[in-house]
Amino acid sequence: MIHETKIIEGTWDLTTYQWKIESDALDLFVKGLKDKKILGRKCHKCGTVYVPGTTYCRKCFIDIDQIVEVDQEGVLDAFTVNLADVKGTLVEHPYITCTVKLKGSDSFLMGILEGWTDWRSVKEGMKVKVVWKDITQGALADLSHFQLI
Ligand SMILES: [Zn+2]
Repeated sequence: MIHETKIIEGTWDLTTYQWKIESDALDLFVKGLKDKKILGRKCHKCGTVYVPGTTYCRKCFIDIDQIVEVDQEGVLDAFTVNLADVKGTLVEHPYITCTVKLKGSDSFLMGILEGWTDWRSVKEGMKVKVVWKDITQGALADLSHFQLI
């Protein structure tokens, strides 16, 4: 049993910006996935790169439109080892869901982590890479998983 608490600091201030639904971020993201690229948007003021590419900067509260491609390798951030199903029954094959920070991005992507044999050996900061489906269709599932390297 591992006892660990991680504090993730952040802000959620909705008072200084007109809130809007951002389908553009997801549209850009899946468009890139079809070509096996990870696309985001970069703030021209502070340089923050968002993946998926939001249409405004969460720090500067300004619209952003500079599209950038980030690296397909990065580091493992937070992760959860799934040893049981929702009813608490142990699963035969545990799996790991994770967040990954790709090189060139300041935000995180979620996915499944593969390439490990003992989940106890998986640590934050390990290097990972994107693994694609053989045939991409412009859908979130095009990004098959993240692989330890
Ligand atoms: Zn900014």
